[in-house]
Amino acid sequence: MPEESGPGPEGPGENGGVESRILLKRLSQVMAEPGEGQERLDRITSMIARSLATEVCSVYLKRDEKTLELCSTEGLRKESVHVSTLRVGQGLVGRIAEQAEPVNTADAPNEKGFRYLKETGEELYSSFLGVPIQRVGEVLGVLVVQTREPRRFTEDEIHGLEIVAMVIAEMTELGAFLGPGAMEMAATHRRPFFAKGLSAQEGVCEGTVVLHEPNIVASVPVAEDPEVERARLHAAVRELRLEVDRMLESDMLSPAGEHREVLEAYRLFAHDKGWLRRMEESIDRGLSAILAVEKEQSATRSRMERITDPYLRERLHDLDDIANRLLRHVAGQQNGGAGLPDDAVLVARNIGPADLLDYGRSLRGVVLEEGSVGSHAAVVARALAIPLVIQAARITREAQNGDRILVDGDEGVAHLRPEETVYKAFHEKVAMRAQAKEVYAALRDLPAETIDGTRINLMMNAGLMADLPSLGTCGAEGVGLYRTELQFLIRSSVPRRSDQASFYSRVLDAAKGKRVIFRTLDIGSDKVLPYMKRQEEPNPALGWRAIRVGLDRRGVMRMQIQALLRGAKGRPLSVMFPFVAQLDEFETARELLLREVESERAHGRQVPESLEIGAMLETPSLAFAPDQFFRLTDFISIGGNDLKQFFFAADRENERVRRRYDTLNVSFLTFIEMIVQRCEAFDVPVSFCGEDAGRPIEALAFAAMGLRSLSMRPASIGPVKRLLRSVDLSAAREVIDGARRSGAQSVRPALFAWLMAQNAPV
Ligand code: PEP
Ligand code: MG
Repeated sequence: MPEESGPGPEGPGENGGVESRILLKRLSQVMAEPGEGQERLDRITSMIARSLATEVCSVYLKRDEKTLELCSTEGLRKESVHVSTLRVGQGLVGRIAEQAEPVNTADAPNEKGFRYLKETGEELYSSFLGVPIQRVGEVLGVLVVQTREPRRFTEDEIHGLEIVAMVIAEMTELGAFLGPGAMEMAATHRRPFFAKGLSAQEGVCEGTVVLHEPNIVASVPVAEDPEVERARLHAAVRELRLEVDRMLESDMLSPAGEHREVLEAYRLFAHDKGWLRRMEESIDRGLSAILAVEKEQSATRSRMERITDPYLRERLHDLDDIANRLLRHVAGQQNGGAGLPDDAVLVARNIGPADLLDYGRSLRGVVLEEGSVGSHAAVVARALAIPLVIQAARITREAQNGDRILVDGDEGVAHLRPEETVYKAFHEKVAMRAQAKEVYAALRDLPAETIDGTRINLMMNAGLMADLPSLGTCGAEGVGLYRTELQFLIRSSVPRRSDQASFYSRVLDAAKGKRVIFRTLDIGSDKVLPYMKRQEEPNPALGWRAIRVGLDRRGVMRMQIQALLRGAKGRPLSVMFPFVAQLDEFETARELLLREVESERAHGRQVPESLEIGAMLETPSLAFAPDQFFRLTDFISIGGNDLKQFFFAADRENERVRRRYDTLNVSFLTFIEMIVQRCEAFDVPVSFCGEDAGRPIEALAFAAMGLRSLSMRPASIGPVKRLLRSVDLSAAREVIDGARRSGAQSVRPALFAWLMAQNAPV
């Protein structure tokens, strides 16, 4: 446990608790009283000074990320209010804001780092106690009390002041100190906020913020009746314990192992007496149950910032997650995607593909503070066809549940609480997109044929049942990549064989005779099944994933193959294995499939009328495999997302390196050309199904390298088809060859300039 269980620091003495409750009650009454924010804050500082018998009480609030401003004081010179400022990290007040830790000293002027603000007259005061004003780990300001008489404040007084600071933070959040002029800064989460991130999935949407991790503002921060709040807390803790027990029960695949250990740790936290006792103490001092949980969470988060030991950080992270769950129970919110508004836009620090699928189609868009374009969460967002913005700095701190948000996935930006002018420009953009959609719809039934008569087969990528209606509307000739793992990711246990079979059958029904290439389970790396033992690997992208898992856990692979064979119900079936790195992996997997066909036949079951078995080329090694591989495989699909990350040794999930290397880099294009030529030599059909296939200029370059089949998300088919139909492919090839001969690193500048000169629709 991060902090000791069992008997901890003394709880509030009966009197301390009563006094604290009386003070908090008065503070909350101030909130209900009329008046400007400044008057309210002034009333509060004098109330605190009186109640704690200190000569000074001051509130500093953050004007921006780096600056603290004295906003109200009792005891220091009034003229210094809104004049005195400190940088975060500067002086004792700045140190408190930076470290989110109290400072308690009997002799402030001689304390290390003390900085004397002349205009305040504070040289008269010797003792100093300051605590951060913070909400769930975010410091909004600092609350300070000072006395002339040198003395150290007791633990009980520190705790009491922290509780008062919590309430001030909550009141700030509720807008209690808002007012004209200088008090604007107290208006946290009310001003418009613009986040410039990166585009991970195009599209635009307007909606209501839903935070993945709750940011619950307690409308009544102070407990009316501690007994009622205690009962609320206890009921929530009971629900939390049941929830964790349920998670443990449903964890069927792994009776032992790391994942289970994590859940066991959750159970320990949920039953920890010290944790519960600290929250009860805060309630006894007058906090509401929500704020009592938040207070513990703030403490955990500030510890998390300081701890470097990875094991301890992980444990603190678990504790933070448990506190989040408890907060939802206390506030009566559901965990997961239930009860979302119709126009929900999910805002999160980061999210895994399984969690994102939990929300599913109820989302209009997603904005992440971290995240990467190559992650599988991004792939899921694409499958869901919702705009995704990643790397949007500070968005989780700025956004509140219920805020209005505009997401522009094309530009990679989000506007929180937008102004009228932004709304207007945004709506114009939405109208323009609608027009472009009409153009694509008109091309739907026309072939993707270049001016010089080369036809490119455009297929779509899918993975959810809900993707399939697009097959009829987007103009795709079939499904070039069906990611079967998405079905596994959305469940809490392995789907039964019969469920899988009926699912695959429905996919083929929906395809109405068009070809569907099913990819067998591609798990591992960032695709972690919630019910499968989590593998601790130094580098999961290079680790135990995809076909490697399938070959080592034959049971799951055989079950899936049987389900595919049965789901086909005699219809033609195409299956491909992901992440094949060498010949024997493909041979073994193919043998296994063929044995299952024989076994089905032997049991008198119907088998597919034709069967094609292919491999995904996602590791450079496979491009150089023995000829035997090319003779054996019925087709090859280039998984460019993975292939590119291994070709350039640049992690597809690491935003720092991911974009360093252009897909149109001469080395990569030449490598693709080499693969195409090897496939041609053996008459093996080859296609490209990575995300790059859906980008018009990239798609054109691949076609120029000889690829005749591309698979992409449905929304890309229109733009890719439009460009292909407007160019002469052999002329494009000449431009690319010219750029290659010239020694260019990437063919993009030359190709782009040529397309612009042609007035091509890029
Ligand atoms: C790829 O790697 O290009 C691919 C299509 O597979 P995934 O993105 O699912 O890893
Ligand atoms: Mg892949």
